[in-house]
Amino acid sequence: MAQEILQLDYQFLDQVEAAGPFDAGACFQCRKCTNGCPVTFAMDLFPDEVIRLVILGQREKVLNCRTIWVCAACETCTTRCPNGVKIAELMDRLKEMAIEEGVPSPQPQIFTLHRTFLNNIKRRGRIFEATLLPIYMLRSGALLKKWNEGTWYDEMKLGWKMFYKGRMPVFPKGIKGKKEVRKILTQSKKTKSKS
Ligand code: SF4
Ligand code: SF4
Repeated sequence: MAQEILQLDYQFLDQVEAAGPFDAGACFQCRKCTNGCPVTFAMDLFPDEVIRLVILGQREKVLNCRTIWVCAACETCTTRCPNGVKIAELMDRLKEMAIEEGVPSPQPQIFTLHRTFLNNIKRRGRIFEATLLPIYMLRSGALLKKWNEGTWYDEMKLGWKMFYKGRMPVFPKGIKGKKEVRKILTQSKKTKSKS
């Protein structure tokens, strides 16, 4: 059987930690993070494996994995870690690095959801559900899929239920500091594109 030659990227850990610190180097592989993670069923690498591969400079493997995209940022792992490794924040950083380096997400719908979510917040400083979901469904192709399957009506029913329970306002509400929120999101994008 052919042996895989390990290509080490010695700068990877430092580049990841530069946006932290996330303290990945403190990991002693106890797997408490993985054992508490609620979405390991959808991951191709477990959270402790991602940390290990970051330490080992496995840039390509890490930035191409599905795990960094399916992570729900619930912070269970961070709370459980006995060494204070900021795993959830590190997953976010890895997503950013994948985008900066032009690595396509193996989960394009999740990427589209993130982008739609942030653009929605930029407009009013908070989410407006009545436009978030339709725009996401349109952009991700989910609406077309449901149309072809003849199941689009289910979404309408769900929307109506949310509206009925007061979860789907008809008119958007802004916040006082919406300009500041927009500035933060725009600045962070500029900073990342410079680095
Ligand atoms: S819980 Fe912390 S120390 Fe344990 S494997 Fe996960 S990151 Fe490493
Ligand atoms: S933050 Fe992500 S990796 Fe950590 S437990 Fe939640 S889903 Fe799993």
